[in-house]
Amino acid sequence: TEDVDKAWLETMNKARTRLISCYNCPMKCAATISLPGLPTYMMKCFSKLTYTMAAFSDLNFGLTIAQRATEYGVDGYSAPQVMAFALELYENGILTDADFPGMPADTEGRFFWLLDRIVRREGIGNILANGTYSASHEIGKGSEAYAHNNIKKQEQLPLKLSMLNPIYFLMYATGEKISITQIEGQFPQGPFPERKDREEFVKDWFQVPDEKFKQYFLDWEPRGEKSNPYYPTVGMCCDIVDWQEKMHYIDDALGMCAGLSSFHMKAPYHIHNLPKFIELGAGIKMDEDKISLAAKRYRTLVRAINIRRGMRRKDEKPPEDHWKKRFPELEKELLDAYYKFKGWNNDGIPTIESLHDLGLDYVSEDFQHRGIYTDMEKTSANNENNKVEGANHEG
Ligand code: SF4
Repeated sequence: TEDVDKAWLETMNKARTRLISCYNCPMKCAATISLPGLPTYMMKCFSKLTYTMAAFSDLNFGLTIAQRATEYGVDGYSAPQVMAFALELYENGILTDADFPGMPADTEGRFFWLLDRIVRREGIGNILANGTYSASHEIGKGSEAYAHNNIKKQEQLPLKLSMLNPIYFLMYATGEKISITQIEGQFPQGPFPERKDREEFVKDWFQVPDEKFKQYFLDWEPRGEKSNPYYPTVGMCCDIVDWQEKMHYIDDALGMCAGLSSFHMKAPYHIHNLPKFIELGAGIKMDEDKISLAAKRYRTLVRAINIRRGMRRKDEKPPEDHWKKRFPELEKELLDAYYKFKGWNNDGIPTIESLHDLGLDYVSEDFQHRGIYTDMEKTSANNENNKVEGANHEG
């Protein structure tokens, strides 16, 4: 409402003393927050709202508890969710008074109480400190159903949206850096309502790796045939997700902050100038193809590690209630196509052939040694190799 809007703006303006940056960075993507009677602390963007949302409270509460949570050094995504999870279990009788000795009666007080218990690993806090997935498995009694905002055992942003966004579906499902902020960034999150605004946007969008991305965006409509969930098409989604993910992996390898590069649209560092910076800084001959291949190679290695630890297609599932309108057939098609695009088999495992192309034969050998590939797959790879060898011999 307008009243809440006004009150929250007032709270924010009073609490935020100034915008700040990391050393020597012009982005100013954090703020110093000073609340009466509390030490000043630094806050990064989204954690402003996570505690507020978890407790169904107001911004003042969110900023106040974030001060203590920041001093403790807990994560602003998972900590509020595990506290809300505990209180849901309590309200539903799965946890009882015996689990919360001395907990205050009011919601805000309960959040502070839980935060202290979690950080000190006292009583129920010792179980909650492991996150909702592990906690629910330890608590049992149906509590697993309340740990519903996880992917690959990790809490996700507490967002609940209406229509499936196919790009985000793929990013949430297949991202292995576990948070959506670690894969999104280069491409707008949704279509702009007016075509003229989209035309304006693409005019100086030189960061795109290929002109086709501009067309994908220009044609993306909020409603009608060219709207979510069937547009961008499956093939376009593969291209868009791959580009966005690639930029994050490049940043990680370079030690570059995503805030200056992969996490932003039209960022100052992008696929066209990063190779030049590497050449100038490290003296390594670099171009866009070479950097893309390097990123693909170690992105595949990250997947290989997780595959060894048991990750499979069954784990690549956004929370059921992330979007209200879901499309199982389309989601299957998206995953099938993206796996193929990335050189992974239908279970999300990098294939023998794609690992060979990346110079990672030792990974497929390790997979075979561990029995990770099915027999069918090994046969098909052998046939492929025989074909290639045959072709080479003839040549
Ligand atoms: S963009 Fe990165 S380096 Fe710059 S202030 Fe933000 S977090 Fe720090």
